[in-house]
Amino acid sequence: MQRLRETLFTFYALCLGMILLAFAAIKFTLIPAYAYYFVWQSTFIFLLIAIGLSVYFNKSKLFVLLLFPLFFMLCLAFPTTLFTKLSVTAFWHIAPLITALGYFLIYALQERGLFSSFGALRTSIGLVILLIGYMGLKYFSPSLQQALDTPILHVSLQGISKASDFILIIALISLFFIFLISLLFEAQSQKAPFWMLMAQMIPLLFLQESNHFILFCLVASLIAIAALAHDAYRMAYIDTLTAIPARRALEERFLRLGSNYVIAMVDIDFFKKFNDTFGHDIGDDVLKLVAKELSHVKNGGKAYRYGGEEFTILFSGKKKEECIMALEEVRERIFRRGFVIRDKNRPEKATKEIQKATTVKKERLSVSIGVALSAKGKTPQDVIKRADDALYKAKESGRNCLICL
Ligand code: GH3
Ligand code: MG
Ligand code: MG
Repeated sequence: MQRLRETLFTFYALCLGMILLAFAAIKFTLIPAYAYYFVWQSTFIFLLIAIGLSVYFNKSKLFVLLLFPLFFMLCLAFPTTLFTKLSVTAFWHIAPLITALGYFLIYALQERGLFSSFGALRTSIGLVILLIGYMGLKYFSPSLQQALDTPILHVSLQGISKASDFILIIALISLFFIFLISLLFEAQSQKAPFWMLMAQMIPLLFLQESNHFILFCLVASLIAIAALAHDAYRMAYIDTLTAIPARRALEERFLRLGSNYVIAMVDIDFFKKFNDTFGHDIGDDVLKLVAKELSHVKNGGKAYRYGGEEFTILFSGKKKEECIMALEEVRERIFRRGFVIRDKNRPEKATKEIQKATTVKKERLSVSIGVALSAKGKTPQDVIKRADDALYKAKESGRNCLICL
């Protein structure tokens, strides 16, 4: 959980940082007028890269959402090719409205991959919305402008944004909705749309200048790329079931390990019993619980899921005695805690009395630990092997104990 909070914070800070940087670049004219030529080029390239990556990672949501800045960028880049003549008023009315509405509708659809009937549906909806946007730009009329500019609130919001009250409200609803829904997801590619929309809405609502819009589209494409890269990293290095680092992360850690370290192999005792007696789901819950306890091991130990119901704890640059103390503490904590099998019909929010009454029973849960120390001429794999031998001895000695070789 703490890890999740950390990564979330880093991602939010990254997105906010990029948006503020773009804002500062505009406010303090850090980018000279001639350099905007390169900003346009970069935006186009990075949007294409982000779109390519979203296809590669099969993320239909990001794919369709990225088409919006690309489409409006192309409208600005080819105002006389795509239209007889693109009206500036039309653009600053239609672009924010279509972007906000499009993001709202596209985001509401569940992610089921790009190459599926769901992905095809999402892409079709996206393209229809963009087609409506194109029609809106092409046939923009004074009456449409008047309709969009009609004040709808008693208190005028004029002065807050350059866009009308109606467009501002739609944008705020869309942002709020996407933010709320994004809290339900862990993947950054699901959180990115909020920041991408935010990045586009700032110039569309408040600045209304093409170069500035393009600069913020660059930010939106970078946010999408960062989210996809982050998710790819998680997929490779974080174990999906227990949410702690996976074996691949341990192997990567070995590459930059000093000469003094301690490795512990931890194996759940009689784990098969949980699967066989209570089913695989309960087995999974036991794995999650043990992983959580192990990840709180003291003395700077880092827990990894090695595979199955085996975990590795790595202490780098720590004294053997202190590592053993930390490991004994976590072993005892798991044993004292046990695993409570609850009644399936137990209500989610139960009072203490109901909780007690509906608790079926507390199952014995323990782990055996084998520990080995680094030694001259030995690779981390050799040390793991020794820790495994120690673990085998711990199992032979009756389990729920620690043996150090
Ligand atoms: P011991 O005390 O000797 O370690 O006995 P054990 O039952 O813990 O060990 P054993 O190696 O016989 O069983 C490990 C089981 O773990 C077998 C496998 O089906 C199960 N397992 C491995 N990965 C998972 C998983 O991700 N989820 C669940 N539910 N079970 C898993
Ligand atoms: Mg095992
Ligand atoms: Mg076991």
